[in-house]
Amino acid sequence: MAGFDDSLRGYAFRIHQRDGFKCRYCGLDGTTSFANWLALSWDHLLPKGHPNRDNLGFIVTACNFCNTADNRYFDQAQKRGLRFHGLTPEELVAQRRPYVQRTRDNYEEFWNKHVRK
Ligand SMILES: [Zn+2]
Repeated sequence: MAGFDDSLRGYAFRIHQRDGFKCRYCGLDGTTSFANWLALSWDHLLPKGHPNRDNLGFIVTACNFCNTADNRYFDQAQKRGLRFHGLTPEELVAQRRPYVQRTRDNYEEFWNKHVRK
């Protein structure tokens, strides 16, 4: 949006708009509550140094938790046998989702045990 230089109203707005304001990993929906919208961020699908890293087609909506859930993803890529070249954004999201989900599952277990009323 013209005139806003912060991420939610500026840079990330068109990414979020394209993705329907939903986290591409967990589905958190920024249209259903203000708090959800505030929790939205964006995620680079390609590692530093990749020529398409900053291409908006390869940056997707992610909530803050999913964005950092597997923050060693690119460092671990070789060990995990992941590749990035020649994959579509959809394939890159699908490749990353299980690693994000694993972290979410671990946190959910903690939440159920220690936080949930
Ligand atoms: Zn999420």
